[in-house]
Amino acid sequence: MTHHDLVILGAGSGNTVVDACTDLDVAVVDHGEFGGTCLNAGCIPTKMLTHTADVAEAVRAAGRFGVDARLDAVRWTEVQDRVFGRLDAVAADGRAGRVDAEHVTVHSGHARFTGPRTLSVERTDGSGHDVVSGDRVVVAAGSRPAVPEPVASSRVPFETSDTIMRRAALPRRLAILGGGYIAAEFAHVFSALGADIVMIDMADRLLGGQDEAVVDGFTALARERYDVRLGRQVESVTGTAGAVRLVLDEGPSRPTRCWSRSAARPTATASTCTRPGSSGTPTGASWSTRASAPPPRASTPWAT
Ligand SMILES: Cc1cc2nc3c(=O)[nH]c(=O)nc-3n(C[C@H](O)[C@H](O)[C@H](O)COP(=O)(O)OP(=O)(O)OC[C@H]3O[C@@H](n4cnc5c(N)ncnc54)[C@H](O)[C@@H]3O)c2cc1C
Repeated sequence: MTHHDLVILGAGSGNTVVDACTDLDVAVVDHGEFGGTCLNAGCIPTKMLTHTADVAEAVRAAGRFGVDARLDAVRWTEVQDRVFGRLDAVAADGRAGRVDAEHVTVHSGHARFTGPRTLSVERTDGSGHDVVSGDRVVVAAGSRPAVPEPVASSRVPFETSDTIMRRAALPRRLAILGGGYIAAEFAHVFSALGADIVMIDMADRLLGGQDEAVVDGFTALARERYDVRLGRQVESVTGTAGAVRLVLDEGPSRPTRCWSRSAARPTATASTCTRPGSSGTPTGASWSTRASAPPPRASTPWAT
């Protein structure tokens, strides 16, 4: 067992605490990349992708401004390389900086409390575990995506906000479960990059909790751009990668059923989500919004 003045669980915002503790013997524990959600799967990559999406949208709309332009293709792999080539390096540098600091010990592994201010850390490389204790412990373990039970138990491949940006291929259709700001951001990104979007939310308006004018304005705008299903929940998910079927509950007003067929492109998770009797088109994977206060994760089960 190693004992420290301070143990920090989580190298997202927790990592910034280290800078204020240069006179202490500090341990930082994380089972993921340094920088946490914001750097690796949140604020920063989404904003970089939003800019890319805005560029694509600007090209599509250029004619309205008397500028002739045409969007020929989106080179997704290059888009990803631009974003994650930079961010992955920042995360690696952040970790190296802490490893090199004399007063800091970095533990790469999954931690769980085994006693007062005492953690057992299962090393990420599978080589065993360490017991780490501290006079004080900062818990900065963040949150993880909350996957609705019908999706989680379905055994059907799905993406979450943690994984969707690192998909090998752009989805052709994407069913997004949730209507908060993260859902809105991804809808914009993947729509602009060419995907058809289905937004499903149990609330009757998108961006719930935001300013009323924003909520109403955005919900109206989203209805123009996407297939928006409000007041609805997913009841079941079936199918396989390339042919996913979502069944929604009856909702408050009219019954709607989602059904699926195989996509032409085998690399994308495909399904359709249309009313019975209408023709379907291939869709992409579904993903979920994040829980606000989940327990520490025991693994990373949300990626498939
Ligand atoms: C798609 C998306 C877009 C976002 N956009 C914005 C935005 O534009 N603006 C904004 O302000 N916020 C945004 N957020 C929210 C923001 O990213 C988070 O609020 C912030 O990153 C939370 O920081 P944190 O340090 O609490 O948690 P995290 O950054 O998640 O850090 C927690 C760390 O703890 C580690 N960890 C957790 N459990 C364990 C364990 N048991 N053992 C070892 N390590 C563990 C994790 O690996 C992680 O590195 C966005 C979030 C998402 C998902």
